[in-house]
Amino acid sequence: MTDIKPSLNFLEQIIEEDLRTGKHGGRIATRFPPEPNGYLHIGHAKSICLNYGLAQKYNGTFTLRFDDTNPSKEEIEYVESIIEDVQWLIGELFNPHSSNVPPPSGGGMGGGQDSVKGRCPNPLPEGEGTIESPLLGERVRVRGKGMTVKFAADYFEQMYQWAEELILKGKAYVCDQTLEEMRANRGTPTQPMIPSAGRDFPPEKNLELFRQMRDGHFNEGERTLRAKIDLASPNFNMRDPVMYRILKMPHHRTGDKWCIYPMYDWAHGLEDAIEKITHSICTLEFEHHRPLYDWFLDQIDEFAPLTEPIASDGANIYRPRQYEFARLNLTYTVMSKRKLLELVKNGLVSGWNDPRMPTICGCRQRGYTPEAIRAFCKEIGVARMNSTIDVVKLENAIRDDLNKRALRRMGVLRPIKLIIDNYPGGQTEQLEAVNNPENESDGTRLVPFSKVLYIEQDDFMEDAPKKYFRLTPGQEVRLRYAYYVTCTGCVKDASGNVTEVHCTYDPATRGGQSADGRRVQGTIHWVSAEHAVSAEVRLYDRLFTKENPDDPQDPTDYKDYLNPHSLEVITDVKLEPSLADATIAERYQFERIGYFCVDSVDSTPDRLVFNRTASLRDSWAKMEKKG
Ligand code: ATP
Ligand code: MG
Repeated sequence: MTDIKPSLNFLEQIIEEDLRTGKHGGRIATRFPPEPNGYLHIGHAKSICLNYGLAQKYNGTFTLRFDDTNPSKEEIEYVESIIEDVQWLIGELFNPHSSNVPPPSGGGMGGGQDSVKGRCPNPLPEGEGTIESPLLGERVRVRGKGMTVKFAADYFEQMYQWAEELILKGKAYVCDQTLEEMRANRGTPTQPMIPSAGRDFPPEKNLELFRQMRDGHFNEGERTLRAKIDLASPNFNMRDPVMYRILKMPHHRTGDKWCIYPMYDWAHGLEDAIEKITHSICTLEFEHHRPLYDWFLDQIDEFAPLTEPIASDGANIYRPRQYEFARLNLTYTVMSKRKLLELVKNGLVSGWNDPRMPTICGCRQRGYTPEAIRAFCKEIGVARMNSTIDVVKLENAIRDDLNKRALRRMGVLRPIKLIIDNYPGGQTEQLEAVNNPENESDGTRLVPFSKVLYIEQDDFMEDAPKKYFRLTPGQEVRLRYAYYVTCTGCVKDASGNVTEVHCTYDPATRGGQSADGRRVQGTIHWVSAEHAVSAEVRLYDRLFTKENPDDPQDPTDYKDYLNPHSLEVITDVKLEPSLADATIAERYQFERIGYFCVDSVDSTPDRLVFNRTASLRDSWAKMEKKG
């Protein structure tokens, strides 16, 4: 390769070289190919950002393609959630017009394409702009003509035809071994696989058997279609892999049409080729499947029109090439769909969108922005070495984003009354407060101030250590945006709990500065008791107590490492009155506490519920330092 810029990641280097040499006729086409058997997680976000980002950067196309080849685990609910999550993450809406799909034939589960279509705005506006998304409850930016969505199931007929061709060419056969027999017969690195009789049947006989498979003459597990490749290959994926198995189950798109379904390895490369994907990017575990992916495409190349047109140098410009990158692992969580499903099914979390889940919808529910997740994916980059990323990086990405954007508000999570003894009873002042010191155009608001306020319980200590700069008898502090107050003492109940804190204020310090230039060390937040809005706050912490709950070396079940303190609900927090009209799309910094958003499921205008998206700083790092 020549003139490769060192700042490019390895995929960008490959693409730039391909563009330079004219491979694929200068075309770049990427896709994200989820199996709709669960909700997307932050690992998928890495793959989406990567594939979408490359298409954007090199003026290519990006497709969301469902790898829906296994109806036993797939559901329309997952299809819908995946479309929703990808739309949200990339800020581009699904465009039904750009997709491959008339509605599915027959019944199956749910309404297939229709039910997806029904949830998407239609038609899309052209070009840049924003659109109200009923899915997301907020305005979403739309770029270009919208996202293309395809379903592998729509190629089942084509795949089937090609399978018949392979059989006729003696490249595939019907096998009567059960899964267990196949496993027992697979051989060792030095011993070849034991074949089944079908391997030597004439093609016509195999074709007849395959058609009988298709027509439902056999039970599940009785027959498979296998590729005839190499019984002794050191790569076990090449030892006559299964192409079709019998599954007597309806499919969400094809209904009852099929009772045989293609295996991933057979289907995947064909899907890419049909869609004319140029760079078929997947995670490292598929590296040893690549020879098989290529083998199938080579066979089809011999008879199918897939291969045209041919580039000037004779190369097939529609031939996809698979590239592998390292999957994302994050500390303090698990990232396999199977395990996430288990957490949901066992009621260990409130659902796929529980704000503690590493799912995209969980992150959204928690208040993460797509921008923060994209920034995180950009920061961690892409490489071919497996590693685990510290979840702090993800948390810092949302802190960085919200620090710039979130409106500042005052809210008291664990309230105690502060009474200003020399402030006139019945008086209210409106004090000006800055909405966002990072963005002047966010302006200011008025916050009511009165004689009785709420402050945080831990902003008062009767016997305070030396460096305690908050309220303690005799000490003066600043009430944010308001006045200097000096603590005069407290009132306790019969069991010695502090029920009220008392102070006096200096009227000459309005706005939080003193004319005589005297300084105070501490500034605390407050809410006027009479004007406060009550709300519920949910404080989330990491879902697991162990950095790698899923350690294969550790015999303990990952569920035993669930953090019992990962959710704390505080039912009666006191918020400044401007938060009464908080909407789902807005995010706030509660000063000195953290970033919060309105919960989009449980919050109502009468009963606001806020989720803590992130604390202001990484409290775990502090704890770990202390030991
Ligand atoms: P899981 O292992 O969580 O069940 P999967 O690989 O089975 O995930 P798919 O729906 O097959 O899930 O994944 C769709 C795409 O996302 C694939 O290209 C896959 O390589 C990629 N992907 C899945 N998990 C990660 C991850 N942790 N990091 C990066 N990419 C991922
Ligand atoms: Mg998979």
